[in-house]
Amino acid sequence: MKLSELTRRSWLKNVGLGLGAAAAGASFGSEEVRADFVTKKVAKRGTEYSGAEATPCTFANGKVTRPAAEIPTISETDVLVVGGGPAGCCAAIAAARAGVKATIVERYNHFGGLATGGLVVHILGHWTKNPDGSKVQVVQGLGEEMMKRLESLPNGICHREFGRNPTVDSEVYKYLLVEMLMEDNVEVFLHSWAIDSIVDDNPDPKTGNPVVKGILIQTKLGPHAILAKQVIDCTGDGDVFATCGCAYTRRLYHIGLPCRLGNLDKIKLQPGQKLPGHLIGSVTPVKGVNWVNMGGPDADGLDVRELTRLELNHRRQIWKNYVKLKNTPGCEEVFLLETAPQMGVRITRVIEGTEELTLEGARNAKKFDSCVGYGGAWGGDHIGWQIPYGCLLSKNVENILTAGRTICGAPDMSELLRVIPNCWSSGHSAGVAAAVAVKSNCTARDVNLTEVRRILTEQKAYLG
Ligand SMILES: Cc1cc2nc3c(=O)[nH]c(=O)nc-3n(C[C@H](O)[C@H](O)[C@H](O)COP(=O)(O)OP(=O)(O)OC[C@H]3O[C@@H](n4cnc5c(N)ncnc54)[C@H](O)[C@@H]3O)c2cc1C
Repeated sequence: MKLSELTRRSWLKNVGLGLGAAAAGASFGSEEVRADFVTKKVAKRGTEYSGAEATPCTFANGKVTRPAAEIPTISETDVLVVGGGPAGCCAAIAAARAGVKATIVERYNHFGGLATGGLVVHILGHWTKNPDGSKVQVVQGLGEEMMKRLESLPNGICHREFGRNPTVDSEVYKYLLVEMLMEDNVEVFLHSWAIDSIVDDNPDPKTGNPVVKGILIQTKLGPHAILAKQVIDCTGDGDVFATCGCAYTRRLYHIGLPCRLGNLDKIKLQPGQKLPGHLIGSVTPVKGVNWVNMGGPDADGLDVRELTRLELNHRRQIWKNYVKLKNTPGCEEVFLLETAPQMGVRITRVIEGTEELTLEGARNAKKFDSCVGYGGAWGGDHIGWQIPYGCLLSKNVENILTAGRTICGAPDMSELLRVIPNCWSSGHSAGVAAAVAVKSNCTARDVNLTEVRRILTEQKAYLG
């Protein structure tokens, strides 16, 4: 049997489909095999996982209360990564490659977060300036591996040139992430919304802080627990660290909704005629397809009424812009390919870590003894900065790290830290650090950073 088949089989086992599915997977062209497999498994799962279903809330005296209930455990793991965006995928892959069991939980049906479902396809901060003015590619390690592999896939990436920020294709990137998670045997839960954290009854004997033991996910069959030795919150919104008592700050920021347009290559302009950038956007790896970014107003990305209001407004705005473009002479063949399935929320919660990145520090190339990553700014016109471990580490709860747009940064710095390569970098570091903590049987706070940096360097990460 080929190695690739073995890997796929063990991954299918991990995602809960088992050997029967692997056999069906070998002939996935056949609807009959698939239907048979699904029918049998569904019947079994219904009885296996229904433990927490029959606990409806009660309504009394005008108030709704939820009764206490025992929650079935669906998995136990070493490193649990919550959120499958740029940071989460890197964290899970890095932890698995560092030799521990890694599990990733994602609320939607795909990986890539805003970089795929949010149609944010332009990789800013890929290059940065050295103090001598020369340019350096700061995206190394897993980020570079992803881009290299996108290059080998049809229409995966464009503008991978010296000193330029590339653009990826959201669908190709979604596919690549599935392949990478499969290869590294990461256990996967899709369609699983993290709704709560699990905290040990006993505080940490050394610090007296609460100790995280896992999370609750909401599924179609009710809530399930996933137990873990280390948890990494990569939800982008701190959904896990907010529930276990971590100190954090809340911020409002622009919320937009990107879209993609097709047939841009069929536009026939008159000499001298120019089209506004906010209507046509910029090119992607697919011929004739552009992506159009959207700023949007400052709003609360955690407030369901706000999110609903903005979804409605943004969809109307996109339609208005599209019709305006289509009615422009020469643009009749342009069509609206898709609006982002995932809302473009930029910043909501930011953890209070044991160290904080500031813009001033970054401008002065501040060095950190605890450096575990490296970041670059938007257009590469800025020198890069070290990412200290304390930006990922909760200051008051044990065994929880965060990575991605939620790491500890002053407001002006968060604006830079949230770009995709920085999320790849902090995800990579968090995954390795959590794995080292598991292997050394210590808390994330006490992890040996020399060992973390050794593994990061082995995994080709750039640390400045
Ligand atoms: C409109 C817009 C334009 C941008 N433009 C650029 C750009 O041009 N270039 C650039 O580099 N960056 C850009 N960014 C920033 C960048 O896209 C994000 O900051 C980056 O994707 C953040 O990565 P992340 O992994 O931290 O979070 P996300 O990409 O948000 O991923 C978080 C993942 O967690 C999942 N999740 C969330 N909550 C839960 C939960 N409770 N349970 C389970 N899963 C959950 C989400 O579904 C998602 O998959 C832009 C952002 C926006 C919104």
